[in-house]
Amino acid sequence: MITGIVEFFENLPPKLCSNCGKPIEEQHECYGNTCFTCIGLKDLD
Ligand SMILES: [Zn+2]
Repeated sequence: MITGIVEFFENLPPKLCSNCGKPIEEQHECYGNTCFTCIGLKDLD
């Protein structure tokens, strides 16, 4: 069961940020196509 879920997510195309173009690792439907860094919710290292 768990393996099937993992495969499902791995098969999803990478979601790219509409602002910086980087892949969005932490997907959240509320934030659309913008990554957390661009939104300002996640500080850069
Ligand atoms: Zn971004």
